[in-house]
Amino acid sequence: SRVWQLVRRPKGKPTVEDFSCLEEELPPCADGDVVVEAEYLSVDPYMRYMARQIPLNSTMYGSQVARVIESKNPQWPVGSCMVVYSGWRTHTHIPSDKLQPDDKWMWPLPDMGTLPISLCVGLVGMPGNTAYFGFLELCQPKEGNTVLVNGAAGAVGSAVVQIAKIKGCKVIAFAGSDEKVAWVKELGADYAFNYKTTNIGEALSQAAPEKINCFFDNVGGQFTAEALPFMANYGRVAVCGAISTYNDDSKDIYSPGSLNSPFSEATLIWKELKVEGFLVFRWKDRSSEGFKQMIQWIQEGKLKYRETVVQGFDKMPIAFIGLFDGENFGKAVVKP
Ligand code: NDP
Repeated sequence: SRVWQLVRRPKGKPTVEDFSCLEEELPPCADGDVVVEAEYLSVDPYMRYMARQIPLNSTMYGSQVARVIESKNPQWPVGSCMVVYSGWRTHTHIPSDKLQPDDKWMWPLPDMGTLPISLCVGLVGMPGNTAYFGFLELCQPKEGNTVLVNGAAGAVGSAVVQIAKIKGCKVIAFAGSDEKVAWVKELGADYAFNYKTTNIGEALSQAAPEKINCFFDNVGGQFTAEALPFMANYGRVAVCGAISTYNDDSKDIYSPGSLNSPFSEATLIWKELKVEGFLVFRWKDRSSEGFKQMIQWIQEGKLKYRETVVQGFDKMPIAFIGLFDGENFGKAVVKP
């Protein structure tokens, strides 16, 4: 197998030199085991957190859609596919005890019909369920509510925009280029802005004079600070991610909060806001419900998607780093 290891802690935005690619011999496929080959590897923003945590010279953490190429397990015949958190590697030996139906880090693909299997690390996978459960459960959108989404052209954000429209909401979206803004409008956003060239406060006072009921936050930091005053009373904020802060190595991410938190306490109190962080794995038991709904909406034409497919396993670090440069429309995946 070819494997990407983390060999240096990134300082600020990761660089290619933080990673190293090497060859690894796989153990033999014993009774009950399988060997899989990566079909599509996922690159995700959370990997920046992993790069702070995993031991140096260990395989980068991550998931992939993989196909069984050698099998001594009748449940997993050659050719069958799974999503597996096996890391940045082309081939993986999976022992029988890791192939249990209740395993958290491996699951069979849902029935995709004619849809591409790459979606199983995208809309019909972890990011799709992040949008589905994170938005519906935490933001509790009601018909006619005003919804704010940032990172709106990304894997999670582009799904939230469309789910909010399906639920009859007014959507205000922010993304990092005019081209992305145009795409987000095609997805149904009522207002979309390029956060790099727009004053967030001015945009929100123009687009949401009635104020914002639901804020699905992928970005955090300065954006959140500037958006919070535009929340309506009893507004709901789903704290999904804070990508604008991930490359800030100036402090330990779990250190006590500072006086410059983006959340103004007075705003939280006087508007009686509900602000909740979450991890998608909270709804692990319901993941197939999310997958089924996303598949249905895609098939009905209610949920559109784009994928940014980077060709070549050797480009894994480049695809990952690209997330912080806004290179991707929709989900970023690598085709080895
Ligand atoms: P995306 O597909 O949205 O890719 C990342 C995007 O973030 C980029 O394309 C870029 O778009 C934007 N971005 C990068 N740097 C900045 C910045 N400094 N300020 C504003 N935007 C920036 O990734 P995902 O959809 O997979 O993830 C979106 C968010 O959701 C992330 O914060 C991620 O950590 C979080 N997440 C949380 C989960 C959970 O369980 N809580 C699960 C999955 C994801 P642009 O061109 O618009 O700048």
